[in-house]
Amino acid sequence: MAAKKQAAPKKVVSAKKQALSKKAKFDAHAQTTEVARRLAIGYPEVICELDHKNAYELLSATILSAQCTDVRVNMVTPALFVRYPDPWALAAADPVELETIIRSTGFYQSKARNLMGMAQNLVERFGGEVPSELSDLVTLPGVGRKTGNVVRSVIFDLPGLPVDTHVGRLSRRLGLTKLEDPVKVELELNNYLPGSEWGSFSLRLILHGRRVCDARKPQCTICELADICPSAGLPVIGPTTKRPAKKK
Ligand code: SF4
Repeated sequence: MAAKKQAAPKKVVSAKKQALSKKAKFDAHAQTTEVARRLAIGYPEVICELDHKNAYELLSATILSAQCTDVRVNMVTPALFVRYPDPWALAAADPVELETIIRSTGFYQSKARNLMGMAQNLVERFGGEVPSELSDLVTLPGVGRKTGNVVRSVIFDLPGLPVDTHVGRLSRRLGLTKLEDPVKVELELNNYLPGSEWGSFSLRLILHGRRVCDARKPQCTICELADICPSAGLPVIGPTTKRPAKKK
């Protein structure tokens, strides 16, 4: 009996090899550099969308922006800064009055505590000035690395890469990182760009997340990153998307 002709495994192996070498060739550093280059063209002006006139105002507005939109914060801060124009005034605020002013930003009781605690610390420990060192900023109530990096980069023009939900989400979609923890994402991205670009890169990613790469409906067809984005055209899977039921 003639031996059965076996299918040549050649094609399967080479396809596998190709996939592996493609994976190995993906370079997150080069990808970040290219994304940063294109975003700088797409968004030549770097804009912080929280209205402010000085470091104290930006720090206060950023504390208020937790779990709240910048648009809402910008509706609240004019009255806030008229009533409390500097850290001394805010440090001595009546908590109930302060809570009433910031109520619409949500979590107003803890935000009021943080704002007053931040202002008291500025007055008592920093002569009423906002410090520029991240190690000092993160000791202030309500201030984590994200807020500290916003102040560092926007006000002091110092290296600081704030990772908010947009920056984390887009970094993962674009293949810049696989990490979820914002601090780990920040430290990974820091490796890929010069310090002078950290702040502007973060602000541009935020703008792109708001204008094009929406969390639920990314507009891949008009996105200038589509040809290099590993998520282009893929269905969005996230907490807002129901996964198909598992087959039993
Ligand atoms: S191609 Fe789509 S998923 Fe990728 S960054 Fe652009 S909008 Fe977002």
